[in-house]
Amino acid sequence: MTMAPVLVAGGGPVGVITALALAQRDIPVRVFEAADVVNDAPRASTLHPATLEMLASVGLLDEVIARGLVARTFQFWDRPTRSVVAEFDHDILKNDTTCPFVVQCEQHKIANMAIERLRAFKHAEFNFGTPVTAITPADDHVEITVTANGKAQKISGSYLVGADGGRSTVRKALDIPFEGYTWPERFLVLTTLFDFASEHGVAYRAYFSDPDEWTNLFKVAGDDGNGRWRAVFPTLPGQTDEEVLNEAATEARLQKFFPKKGTYEIVHRNIYKVHQRVAARFRHGRVFLAGDSAHVNNPIGGLGLNGGIHDAMHLSGSLSSVLHGERPASDLDTYDAVRRPMNIEYVQQQTIANKKRLEEKDPASRQANFDQLRRTAADPVAHRAFLMRTSLLESVRKQKAAA
Ligand SMILES: Cc1cc2nc3c(=O)[nH]c(=O)nc-3n(C[C@H](O)[C@H](O)[C@H](O)COP(=O)(O)OP(=O)(O)OC[C@H]3O[C@@H](n4cnc5c(N)ncnc54)[C@H](O)[C@@H]3O)c2cc1C
Repeated sequence: MTMAPVLVAGGGPVGVITALALAQRDIPVRVFEAADVVNDAPRASTLHPATLEMLASVGLLDEVIARGLVARTFQFWDRPTRSVVAEFDHDILKNDTTCPFVVQCEQHKIANMAIERLRAFKHAEFNFGTPVTAITPADDHVEITVTANGKAQKISGSYLVGADGGRSTVRKALDIPFEGYTWPERFLVLTTLFDFASEHGVAYRAYFSDPDEWTNLFKVAGDDGNGRWRAVFPTLPGQTDEEVLNEAATEARLQKFFPKKGTYEIVHRNIYKVHQRVAARFRHGRVFLAGDSAHVNNPIGGLGLNGGIHDAMHLSGSLSSVLHGERPASDLDTYDAVRRPMNIEYVQQQTIANKKRLEEKDPASRQANFDQLRRTAADPVAHRAFLMRTSLLESVRKQKAAA
């Protein structure tokens, strides 16, 4: 008897990596993506060592490195004095991981490369332009409704993975609360061709603390491979898109950050709402939530997509083991039991603390933060412990130890 497919709602990086990992374990899978193409707006790009190990396990690591940028170090800066507070080097993790570095690789590249790999499997299917509109869970299967070419169609599968992003139709259809809050300020991302490394010695990933306007700065390869920098700033609550995004305002913002002769060449501007939210449950019977549909967070520390890929690997591992009869169906309970607390402890808590550290206004607390960062960077034991946590290796090792 042929096995019923696992259905995946959403063909973003998390949905497609889940599908690829399932297909590689001989599980039939069908992915339904609402959009007609992969969204290539600037979003996540930082891939931490723990996630790189996972991407290696599905055969994507070499291509991610080839199409991205390897960033061994990252820095904390004091923005008002434009000075480096501390630098951290992942090489200190060389005995802990096969990937003692971070790779900056834009998420649309990751999704596209995984879709291409997925399509090589006869038992896998990827459909653009087919939104999932309804879900009918049952005890022994799950049925979804998708719209294809303007027509509604019912599709049946063994399980459904809701990887359909922060506004998840799957999560809403199951009435699962998305607990947490939305920050009052929105974040602005400016992409420029100006080279902050050669001009100012900025590492490929850098966090600038400032009581008035913190900044995140990082380099990505770009589609042409020539390199470009993304600078992330907070905006004031209530500011309109036009006030924030107009040419004079964006130029002034970058000039205030690092003054330079002539204008900045800005190649992309976007502004978005930022949340800290976690779904009350990651599972409802035969339906699972993964990636942004299960949790969203601010991007400081670059952890959101990483957490989603960790969901993808845990879930695909459990589902394939259960479907092949290697593990009891109760193994699926570990997904919510493990991934939800891991997200709260390692992604929500770290990103909230990262934001607080960068925006700290009290001079004594800022100084104490800087002293702490300098001490941590200078002490090899503390340096390693700090990176084990920020790279998510600690969370993965803890998860393995508990299994
Ligand atoms: C504007 C923006 C900027 C971001 N910047 C950063 C950053 O700098 N750093 C960082 O770490 N993270 C960032 N994030 C978060 C990061 O992009 C996400 O963590 C990541 O995209 C999660 O991947 P995903 O596959 O779970 O969700 P998504 O990438 O959102 O993919 C979900 C997919 O589901 C599809 N979909 C939606 N509804 C349906 C439906 N009903 N049926 C079928 N398909 C559907 C969507 O079209 C989409 O392709 C950003 C997010 C946004 C929105």
